[in-house]
Amino acid sequence: MFRRIKKAFSKFIDKASSLLFSREQLLDLIDEFKFELVSNDVAYDVAEEIAAKLVEAVENKIVKDKETLMDFLKKTIKSYFDSVEPINIFYEASKTKPYIIVFLGVNGVGKTTTIAKTAVLFKEKGFKPLMVAADTFRAGAQEQLRVHGERTGIPVFMGKYGADPASIAFDAIRHAETRGYDVVLIDTAGRMHTDSNLVDELRKIIRVAKPHRKILVVDALTGNDAIEQAVFFDKAVGVDAVIVTKVDAYEQGGVPLSIVYSIRKPIIMIGVGQGYKDLKPFNIDEFLDKILP
Ligand code: GDP
Repeated sequence: MFRRIKKAFSKFIDKASSLLFSREQLLDLIDEFKFELVSNDVAYDVAEEIAAKLVEAVENKIVKDKETLMDFLKKTIKSYFDSVEPINIFYEASKTKPYIIVFLGVNGVGKTTTIAKTAVLFKEKGFKPLMVAADTFRAGAQEQLRVHGERTGIPVFMGKYGADPASIAFDAIRHAETRGYDVVLIDTAGRMHTDSNLVDELRKIIRVAKPHRKILVVDALTGNDAIEQAVFFDKAVGVDAVIVTKVDAYEQGGVPLSIVYSIRKPIIMIGVGQGYKDLKPFNIDEFLDKILP
């Protein structure tokens, strides 16, 4: 996990130390470091911003040895995560019933699995969750959620194949209200490579379901695609929070920072495996410990 970005940080810090922080050489090194960051999925704009801040810190002698460099990097990266408003869906759900979440994301990123994992977390915390299969376009999407429902023991509200997803969402919420469900987790379509009007469909679901939160699911392993998807969905329908999946197999490390920088929304959880328990809260200090040497 995050092995490559950690190596880039290590290399930069070791080289800077071996050059005894000589100003001229350090400036060249910072440029090289910037491209190392970019090659590890750090979006160019944020890599450039970090590099510019670093140059300034060197010029002002704030960074002058290994310790001050480490401290600077940690604080700078942390500041991007701290600048977004945190969201606690479990706290919010305890205040509103039914608490409605619409999940967004491209096919294959792990969206269905993530919905099931999130439902399991809600159940463990004493909530009564309902999963809703509102992707009526992709053959198998509803079936996939049904299987997760069977395995986790969490009910799934199914619409008819080919039915209007917004009307399924509407019926599901009514069903949740009358049956006393606490949380409604709505799956949506994620077809990106057809000419169908996905954005219109999502907007309609959102208009009808009036979700408390719209959570985007992205796959860390897709690197820049994950960042582009975040920008796309945020522009199209507005994203409140992000879950990054497949972090267990992800070495580059830059995706969480790039997403937070690009759309200014929090990463609330990360997927760390295929099991239903493999969804963890995203913790910035743990993340920094993993990516920094
Ligand atoms: P969807 O098309 O977005 O609904 O994707 P699925 O939920 O079907 O997931 C696609 C594949 O990714 C499945 O094999 C999942 O088990 C796997 N997957 C989902 N999340 C994670 C994760 O956090 N780590 C790993 N290693 N695999 C995951």
